[in-house]
Amino acid sequence: MKFEDLDLLRNIQQAITEEGYEAPTPIQEQAIPEILAGNDLVGCAQTGTGKTAAFAIPILNLQHRIVGSAKKVKYIRALIITPTRELALQIGQSFDTYGKYTNIRQLTIFGGVNQVSQVDQLKKGVDILVATPGRLLDLHKQGFINLDHLHTLVLDEADQMLDMGFINDVKKIIKLTPDNRQTLLFSATMPVPIRELADTFLTKPKYITV
Ligand code: AMP
Repeated sequence: MKFEDLDLLRNIQQAITEEGYEAPTPIQEQAIPEILAGNDLVGCAQTGTGKTAAFAIPILNLQHRIVGSAKKVKYIRALIITPTRELALQIGQSFDTYGKYTNIRQLTIFGGVNQVSQVDQLKKGVDILVATPGRLLDLHKQGFINLDHLHTLVLDEADQMLDMGFINDVKKIIKLTPDNRQTLLFSATMPVPIRELADTFLTKPKYITV
């Protein structure tokens, strides 16, 4: 399979070509069509399989249609929750790379740093937010984040979030989002609490293991 077979928007395809990607990886080949179709998804995949692009590319594709057709989108449309600052920055960079020919506004937020510049960016408007759990809840509590119009929620490295004690924060975050959202869960392993999370909060998810 080639990326061209996935029928992506031309400006996103262009960015992928410039990255030198010739073909989708197995997780991309399976996940991208499901996400574009609006399905919930559980992806059992390690880092290094190309899982970031497997969700970032279809989210950009979906959001570009929406952002491109609306005059000004005021609300966060996609939220990616990930356990660490390093992962958050990598994911944010991926959105910047694949989305460089779109007008989608991406912001990455994490704890351990002053919140002022993050809050300034949020006030200007953000389409896609990448966040660690604690900072997300903190800024939401302060009234700087509105998730009422969220379209897609990604729980990245779910097993690592469990290991780091973030599972209750993750559940709180899910409850701040609309019931009709699309939910994508990625995890290298599937311990019982992660299976239960998927059973409780995902709707008829497709399961992909690579
Ligand atoms: P990840 O599993 O998301 O951490 O990605 C691992 C690495 O694979 C990253 O450096 C990506 O830039 C790269 N990558 C992702 N998708 C592809 C692809 N289809 N072809 C070549 N490299 C890729």
